[in-house]
Amino acid sequence: MERKLVILGSQWGDEGKGKIVDLLSENYDMVIRYQGGSNAGHTVIYNNRKVILHLLPTGILHPHVTGVITQGMVVDLEVLDQELENLRSIGVDWEGRVFISDRAHLVMPYHKVLDRLFEKRGGIGTTLRGIGPAYMFKFGRKGVRISDLEDEDRLRDLLEENFSFVRDISERVFGESFDFSVDETMEKILTIYEKYRPMVKDVSKILWETDRSMIFEGAQGTMLDVDMGTYPFVTSSNSSALGLANGTGLSPKFFSDAYFLGVAKAYTTRVGEGPFPTELKGEEGSRLRDLGGEYGSTTGRPRRCGWLDLVVLRHAVRVNHLDGLIITKLDVLDSFEEIKVCVAYELEGERIDHFPASPSLLDRVRPVYITLKGWLRNTKGIKDVKDLPGEARDYINLIEEFTGVPVVMLSTGPRREEYVWLKEMLRSGLRSS
Ligand code: GDP
Repeated sequence: MERKLVILGSQWGDEGKGKIVDLLSENYDMVIRYQGGSNAGHTVIYNNRKVILHLLPTGILHPHVTGVITQGMVVDLEVLDQELENLRSIGVDWEGRVFISDRAHLVMPYHKVLDRLFEKRGGIGTTLRGIGPAYMFKFGRKGVRISDLEDEDRLRDLLEENFSFVRDISERVFGESFDFSVDETMEKILTIYEKYRPMVKDVSKILWETDRSMIFEGAQGTMLDVDMGTYPFVTSSNSSALGLANGTGLSPKFFSDAYFLGVAKAYTTRVGEGPFPTELKGEEGSRLRDLGGEYGSTTGRPRRCGWLDLVVLRHAVRVNHLDGLIITKLDVLDSFEEIKVCVAYELEGERIDHFPASPSLLDRVRPVYITLKGWLRNTKGIKDVKDLPGEARDYINLIEEFTGVPVVMLSTGPRREEYVWLKEMLRSGLRSS
């Protein structure tokens, strides 16, 4: 088995990574989140119950797994507290199995205030969880890190400076009162911190020193990566493989022996604003939305839906140097007589097969489709490759042909056991069916 496995979203997030990481965690010791924050929403069916994890790594539902939050994440302590309490209430004992980096930045109440104010002025449809402003403060060198909670004087100075800055923006620019108090905020944060203090560690050192096996769990998706996604309609971190080194505090060389898998839906969705060349605005889009239950797990917003875009997947294969793909939600296409797949774009009469950087070019590209016959058979819950209809195999073959990497697994339903291995996934063969 590969000791390091990286699982990444290959589209605009919500690809079903939660289910996949949960399933694969069975064979791994540690699961590590390395970017983003509580804007993620990884859905897992656990003991017949739907559990949505926002901050904690999905693998935490397995009693043998250690969950790690690295310094590339931005941590909202209130969300962490709710999530851990919620897990405890459903019988998940996480004591001694969660580590949080002392270098991770905190999401503060004033970041959420700014998120809302910025959204009012021509926003991009964020989750309003304060993630973007927390990263702004981090890179603007005004952030508060978990290690700062050990020094109350320093914490007070940082908060006073930040409160005064945000109050000025709120009151002078937006004409809204800002009535948070430094004392109350400190008390709230320090009370929660006290509960979880034993979990705070130099996580980068732990990862460097351990010989335990690890899954690195990407959140959001490659097309939401702040550099390689559809900027500015992106998240505020490197949600592709690019975020691994800076997110963990380990050199790219550390990941040279890792196995990289991209998760993609059998169709495409995105939440919020921004380019989406294969979007279906009419009845077919609504049909995909209804059949796939495409409503945001963090915000409840209806997701925009469209056909599978292989230009996007090729981009994800290159940016992440993927070894293979996992295709989820194949079952959602079961009732379609015809299924379209975008294999290239047309831009001003020319055929292109790469994903352009500029939003204005992306507004003008037209998808070039291949139409395949649907399988019109139930694939929901199938576990044996022999039960896969021929047309569904053709669909998978087309994906492999245009992306140049193998599809190693299909997910055929939301439950842990609903999947099919198509290939020996890992070089030394992790194959559990
Ligand atoms: P993530 O953010 O990438 O983890 O994805 P989400 O959790 O937001 O969305 C995936 C949704 O699809 C969840 O409700 C899952 O339970 C569900 N899901 C995952 N895989 C499958 C699948 O193969 N088929 C179906 N029908 N649902 C799936």
